[in-house]
Amino acid sequence: MRNPPKIVEFEITLACNLRCIHCYCEAGQRSPFELSTSEIKNLMDDLKALGVWAFDIVGGEPLLRSDIYELLEYAKRIDLRVMINTNGTLISEDVVKKLRDIYPDLMIGISLDGPDPETNDFVRGKGSFEKAVRGIKLLTKSGFDPVVLNVINKRNWRKFEDMINLARSIGVKKIYVDRFIPVGRGVVNREKLDMSDLDWIEAIRHVREVMKNYENDMTFYVEENITGDPCSAGVTHASVLASGWVVPCGHFRYNREFYMGNVREKPFSEIWNSFDPAEYFPTPGPCKSCEFLKACGGGCKAVAYHRYGNVEKLDIPICYLRKQSNDFHLKNWG
Ligand code: SF4
Ligand code: SF4
Repeated sequence: MRNPPKIVEFEITLACNLRCIHCYCEAGQRSPFELSTSEIKNLMDDLKALGVWAFDIVGGEPLLRSDIYELLEYAKRIDLRVMINTNGTLISEDVVKKLRDIYPDLMIGISLDGPDPETNDFVRGKGSFEKAVRGIKLLTKSGFDPVVLNVINKRNWRKFEDMINLARSIGVKKIYVDRFIPVGRGVVNREKLDMSDLDWIEAIRHVREVMKNYENDMTFYVEENITGDPCSAGVTHASVLASGWVVPCGHFRYNREFYMGNVREKPFSEIWNSFDPAEYFPTPGPCKSCEFLKACGGGCKAVAYHRYGNVEKLDIPICYLRKQSNDFHLKNWG
């Protein structure tokens, strides 16, 4: 038996009221293949029995799913720790009250891709900054401790410090940081958001430095494609797609060769326990004799696949930064 995953992400719906240009799952319309309420309850029972640390509900926009409150109520009843990632634009006083009544310690992530309307709305659409900030303020006012979800791209990386200061000014103490990877709608918008390897090196280095400067004031949850730690895909992480297919990381949602199984056919636990990440992600050739292999593992497998063509390629910016300095670490990242 393998160790259970730490976090299982689940696309509860592909419906979304926004059309963000980086959206990895091209959300917009609800999919006819989405799991039903009872299928999701079965999945939650299975994950609870397996011992996952948290069930991360993503979308699309989870608040558009009509059974969201029933499902949160169920998760609370079986004592399953839940996180929910929302674009924040649909959060009203009424929504906050319902969430507080049902799941008062719900971990809520709200996406913001810039510290000002111009930078954020370039990715997420006109008016989305004001609405998301309003949603965050409603949440903090009612006692939630939301996390701002920030995806680093070509247009926003220089504003990362402003992003932190904006978050602090609206009562947010936690930021999750991820890196743009061209998948889904991100493929057609790649020119606008992606960078050369050299620019990514500069951007990642800058973001790391800023996080170091603020590590006593903020908690950072940082994707390994920025920290340079070994990729968690299929090791401590898995994603369940809206259609029930399980993939090691959501960035492989369109690549059938990475499908691990479907929860409609067998329980997640069975799929997880028969999966061997080493089979899917062999160590890249140049890493085999590298002194940093254990600490690094070759970088982000999704970056390797979607930027360089296959998972046995190196994530070049991460490799370069690791070889430059092997001592990047934050006190308080999750
Ligand atoms: S530093 Fe480079 S060569 Fe070494 S393990 Fe990491 S990615 Fe591979
Ligand atoms: S493939 Fe990349 S984004 Fe996915 S878990 Fe690994 S490091 Fe993170």
